[in-house]
Amino acid sequence: MDRKTFLKTSLAGAAALMAAPGAVVSCASAKEEKKSPATPLNLSFQEGVTPGQTLAEKLDFMESLGITGFEPGGKGLSGRVTEIREALNGRNIKVSAICAGFDGFILAEDPSVKAQFDTTMRDIVRAAGELGSTGVIMVPVFNWQTPSLPHTLETRDFLCAQLHDLGEFAVSCGTTVILEPLNRKEAFYMRLVSDAAAICRDADSAGVKCMGDFWHMQEETSDYAAFMSAGPYLQHVHIASRGNRIMPGEDGDVDNYVDGFRALKELGYPHYVSFECGCRSEDRVATLTAAVNLLRTQWDQA
Ligand code: MG
Repeated sequence: MDRKTFLKTSLAGAAALMAAPGAVVSCASAKEEKKSPATPLNLSFQEGVTPGQTLAEKLDFMESLGITGFEPGGKGLSGRVTEIREALNGRNIKVSAICAGFDGFILAEDPSVKAQFDTTMRDIVRAAGELGSTGVIMVPVFNWQTPSLPHTLETRDFLCAQLHDLGEFAVSCGTTVILEPLNRKEAFYMRLVSDAAAICRDADSAGVKCMGDFWHMQEETSDYAAFMSAGPYLQHVHIASRGNRIMPGEDGDVDNYVDGFRALKELGYPHYVSFECGCRSEDRVATLTAAVNLLRTQWDQA
C-alpha cells in the first residue's frame, strides 16, 4: 500500500466512523459497563477487630462508620444464634461470613479427627444458615495439622467428593462453605485463589465457594487475575495491610488494593470485604476509621 492509498483508506475509515457515531458511543459504554461503577464496596469487620466491650458497642461503632457486615468466629456459634440475631435486629448490618471455629480437619488421616471435623463443621454450618451468613470459611489442612492425607491426585478427588456432600448440606441450610487459600508458609495444600476455585468447580455443588485474602494473596502474580479466575465462586474477601497483616494503611504505600478492587467491580462482586488484621497503633478507633477511608478512596480509583 503506497502513501496515497493509505491516506485514502484512513480517511474513508474516519468518515465511516463520523457517519456512525453510535458505534463509537457503544464501544465507550461497553467499557463503562465492564467497570460496573455501581458496584458498592460492602465492608465487614471481624468481631475481634472491632473496638467495644460488648457486642452492642461493637455494632454501634460499625454503624458509625457505615460498615454493613459482621464476621464472628464459628466456635460455639450454635449457642450464640439468638444473641447475634437480637443484636443485629433493626440495624443495617448482616452476618457476612463465619470464620472457621470447627475442630479436626477435613484431610485428617485419623478417622476420629476427620469425624470431629464433620460433626463440628456441620453444627456451625447449621447456625450460619440460621444467621443468614454467606458461608463458613474453612482451610482443608494447615501445614501444622498432621498426620494428613498425602498431597496426591487421590486426595484431591477425596476432598472434592467430601466437599460435594458438605456443600449440599450447606445448601439445605441456606448457606455455603467457603474455601480459603493461604500461602505456602501456612498451608501448602491450597495457595492460590484459582486453585480454590478449581476445587469448587470439581466439587460440583452450589454450596462450595471460595475466597481471597489480600494478605495471603502475596503469592499471586496478579490480584486482578486471582479474583477474575474465581468469578462466580468468589463468596468472600479478607483484607489486611500487605506488609505485616495489620490495619490497611499501616504499612504505607504497599497497602494498595486497587488492582484487586478493579476485578471485584468488574465482576459486580455482591458480597463483603472483611477486615481480618491486627493493629499496630494504640488508637484502634482512629486507625480503623483511616483504613475504611483509604479503602473507599481506592475503591473509587479502581
Ligand atoms: Mg483470612
